[in-house]
Amino acid sequence: MTGAARRPAGSRPMHVRYSPLAQQYAEPDEIFRELRELVRTGDFTLGKPVPEFEAMFAAALGMRHAIGVGSGTDALKLPLRALDLARGAEVVTCANTFYATAGAIAEAGCRPVFVDCTDDFCLDVDQLEAAITDRTGAIMPVHLSGEVADMPRLMSIAGRHGIPVIEDGCQSLMARHSGRLAGSWGIASGFSMHPLKIINVWGDAGVVVTDDAEMDRKLRLLRNHGLRNRDEMEVLGYNSRLDSVQAVVGKWILRQVDDIVARRISNAAYYDAAFSGISGVRVPPRSAETRNVYLLYMLFAERRDELLRHCIERGIEAKVHYPIPLYLQDALRFLGHKPGDFPVTDRHAETLISFPVDQHLTREEQDYVVETVRGFYSGERP
Ligand SMILES: *Cc1c(COP(=O)(O)O)cnc(C)c1O
Repeated sequence: MTGAARRPAGSRPMHVRYSPLAQQYAEPDEIFRELRELVRTGDFTLGKPVPEFEAMFAAALGMRHAIGVGSGTDALKLPLRALDLARGAEVVTCANTFYATAGAIAEAGCRPVFVDCTDDFCLDVDQLEAAITDRTGAIMPVHLSGEVADMPRLMSIAGRHGIPVIEDGCQSLMARHSGRLAGSWGIASGFSMHPLKIINVWGDAGVVVTDDAEMDRKLRLLRNHGLRNRDEMEVLGYNSRLDSVQAVVGKWILRQVDDIVARRISNAAYYDAAFSGISGVRVPPRSAETRNVYLLYMLFAERRDELLRHCIERGIEAKVHYPIPLYLQDALRFLGHKPGDFPVTDRHAETLISFPVDQHLTREEQDYVVETVRGFYSGERP
């Protein structure tokens, strides 16, 4: 018997929160113990926890280098800067990504060029070649929602044109395509530890991974004012160091990443089975080639806005990622796009709904979400 079935009709709605952070950090004593030690040493700037965290992160990703930076946005911007592209160079990315991808491209002095996505929410590789010009400086595939772009094909196209690839892995830590980790394909890849990502710290933080020694060296310069040593500045850089405090939290949470990901995958499989029996929603295609880590659990829904309201009124913090496609945002009006330029992205903005799927969600909460959606399509009224 499901949790929702035990709940008599008309009973008080359950509260299904979106963010699991309060549960995740319910017992922070171990973190506080290490922070107390850190405070005693005063080692706040690139202190000992930073290289410790970086070594752990590189090992988790099977990469030679991990460089801690100030945010996921900077984890995209700094590798772009390290490529030394011509000012105004084009960076091909996905039309449906999170704002920060375009922000990072613009801050690196480049111009975003969009390609539509497919129903797996990642860049449609069939349309990639048409977006490449002689001004293309880099390709930045986005592994959106926990999925992975079709990297084998994307890398072969990029290789044929001699264009470097920087992966936006901010939503897809530990996801895989063809057995290989997201973030291990390009010259460098950026990850975020923002509170709403797969692993998260107590504020902002990001990590870049690379196997390339020169890229590693440049990133370490760029995150710290371009300083080669205390007195010599090699390039103009940024103040974008991973905080020692956040590195302490990062070490604690990174140790749990395999469990976190396994729980998300299990929760998503449970939802997939339940939702496939409800006619008003459609489960996105699930590829056998990818290991989706489900940062977001998204469904295509008929009458999406009504369903969203129905769920929120019943205590479920459902969300929409993203109601206004990036390519139509005011900030990017200078690119000259109009509605309809990326039809799959447009359809997603109108039909997708996201439900909580994190490691602390209970089966009872999942049952309540499923039954609430079922109730909506079977005409239940309050
Ligand atoms: C969150 C996110 C970023 C930026 O990460 P921050 O740590 O918030 O700066 C970049 N790209 C994508 C796809 C993201 O989801």
